[in-house]
Amino acid sequence: MAAPRRRVTVSDVDHADVHDVAERLKEMSTAYQMCRDSDYRHSWRPLTANINDDGTRERVMRCSRCRTVKTRLMTAYGHTISVTYKYPEGYQLKGFGPLDETARDYLRLLSFNRDAGLDAPEYPASSVTPITAAKGKRNRKGRR
Ligand SMILES: [Zn+2]
Repeated sequence: MAAPRRRVTVSDVDHADVHDVAERLKEMSTAYQMCRDSDYRHSWRPLTANINDDGTRERVMRCSRCRTVKTRLMTAYGHTISVTYKYPEGYQLKGFGPLDETARDYLRLLSFNRDAGLDAPEYPASSVTPITAAKGKRNRKGRR
């Protein structure tokens, strides 16, 4: 079984380096940006599916876009025992910990701008003038 992933605490992340995060995200390949964008996420394809001697099931999938490999180990009843990811070089932002909400918003806008054929946005995204809601559409902030 894979070694447990180290839990990143707030104190491990230098929040002063948010602009560095933006620069790193801008430099990332389109594939990595898309897989990190919550509108796209990974595009999993089956790689292997095996039943182990102890009856547990192991399914390995690979993202067709970024080549990340995901391994899920489950019981014979489908209950998850563990899920591990093996990321390609350069996918993870080493030393920054998980992306905070501002960075995730920036990444989404970066991805949007690429889809729209626009230049990369300034960071942070909150400094960008908000796009007004299209006529006839109400702002339903807070509702999902
Ligand atoms: Zn991916």
